[in-house]
Amino acid sequence: MKPHVPRKRFGQHFLHDRTIISRIIDSLEIQKSDTILEIGPGQGALTRHLPESIHHLYLVEIDRDLAAALGSAFAHRSNVTIINQDVLSVNIADYLQEGRLLRIIGNLPYNITTPIFFHLAQFAHSIRDMTFMVQKEVADRLIAEAGSKTYGRLSLSAGLRFSIRKRFDVGPGAFNPPPKVTSSIIHLRPHEQQFQDILQQQFDTLVRTAFSQRRKTLKNSLGKIIDAETFKNADIDSTLRPESLTIDDFLKLAERMI
Ligand code: SAM
Repeated sequence: MKPHVPRKRFGQHFLHDRTIISRIIDSLEIQKSDTILEIGPGQGALTRHLPESIHHLYLVEIDRDLAAALGSAFAHRSNVTIINQDVLSVNIADYLQEGRLLRIIGNLPYNITTPIFFHLAQFAHSIRDMTFMVQKEVADRLIAEAGSKTYGRLSLSAGLRFSIRKRFDVGPGAFNPPPKVTSSIIHLRPHEQQFQDILQQQFDTLVRTAFSQRRKTLKNSLGKIIDAETFKNADIDSTLRPESLTIDDFLKLAERMI
């Protein structure tokens, strides 16, 4: 078989560093009862090191050639399903078996990391936890606190649903071909209490609108959807910029809009 040439359009940087692979697998603390969904298994750098005895393994891979090779490699395993699809079009909730929450893992394609997060955010109630390799810059945005430069839409929408920890950084040399940036392993666990869908949607709309004009005051960016009275009732100063508001602040505004 011809060797696979990494495809840039699919963000293919394959992990080869065994120490890093072991650290990631160890951090997962996998149990036999786990149902795991891996995004972008590629050539199976992580997949091959997952214990065979887990309940079920779903592999979501967009690249037809890689999906076919995975199909052959795992043909003998009845607890492995290959899903040759764009993860952004996968309804994660379809893969809940007997109510087992999913553990999602992946060395994510960097070109679509943010859309993947927004897509997965809709399924927080179906997920037990998620462990991902992302660009360090994205990890920094995910864990950013209000007031910092990297704080924004991603920090707020992810923080509303998940508690997020950075585990460790990974240098470019761990991949083939090496990316231009440093990467980080992050872990996300849905908060036990999830807000109602309608409140989450309202929250996301407010955050998106406010940060689409990041330099503007809230009065200017949100003025069309929130009046002065509502800002006052929520005890939010409308002359602030969006990066000064915490998750709770945006929630207070969102609650008053439903
Ligand atoms: N897990 C492998 C590893 O660590 O070596 C590959 C990681 S590589 C950074 C990203 C993988 O995601 C590639 O296999 C790529 O084909 C796949 N991919 C890219 N876009 C995708 C999408 N929209 N849906 C599913 N898989 C995707």
